[in-house]
Amino acid sequence: MDFSSERAIEIAEAATSAMTARAIHAAKAGLAGEGCAECEDCGDDIPAARRAALPSARRCVGCQTAFESGRG
Ligand SMILES: [Zn+2]
Repeated sequence: MDFSSERAIEIAEAATSAMTARAIHAAKAGLAGEGCAECEDCGDDIPAARRAALPSARRCVGCQTAFESGRG
């Protein structure tokens, strides 16, 4: 058994599992509606307080107001 290739596999496996854990975390955050707290229109962060009050909010207050007044 070549020790160095065994070690390389070990490192590769550790790196892969770290990447997988990260991907799973990102996917879960996406499903939970976290990690996408950006305004659809201007790309600004939507304040946590606004998201807590209105979890479905996809725009910041300014863009939401403009969207609603433009629609109505
Ligand atoms: Zn906005």
